[in-house]
Amino acid sequence: MRYDDSNIFAKILRGEIPSEKVFEDNQVFVFMDIMPRSPGHLLVIPKAKARNILDIRKEELHAVIDSVKKMAELAMQAFNADGITIQQFNEDSGGQEVFHLHFHVIPRYSGERMQSPGQMVKDMSNLKIQADKIRVLLN
Ligand code: AMP
Repeated sequence: MRYDDSNIFAKILRGEIPSEKVFEDNQVFVFMDIMPRSPGHLLVIPKAKARNILDIRKEELHAVIDSVKKMAELAMQAFNADGITIQQFNEDSGGQEVFHLHFHVIPRYSGERMQSPGQMVKDMSNLKIQADKIRVLLN
């Protein structure tokens, strides 16, 4: 399967649609998921045009994984989490909905289940508050 430039994360990377950015460098972009499974749900994506883990170059994947680890550590601290769930889906049959490689970094709390998928955040300002909690640790 080929990479399709019209996917929503490609549009975010090109600045065509807004996102609550947390971090970016030459290779990686991190932002808040607008349908969070848990407060503080982050998405880590490569800037490279990769559909998923099956077509990304190893060097580019390494940069993304470095950032996933960093964001997991920061999310533990920023959101006072008890654990972190990392999710990553490949192709329709693998549960993927947006066809630009992404890793979910989801803070978890003792005794709390993840929210069901597909529920849009009710108040966008909450995403900014959460993003600020990570951003302050990056400074
Ligand atoms: P999946 O491909 O199954 O890993 O799911 C795609 C993820 O992208 C879901 O968690 C969505 O909530 C999230 N998502 C979709 N559109 C946006 C957007 N514009 N900004 C932030 N997150 C998004």
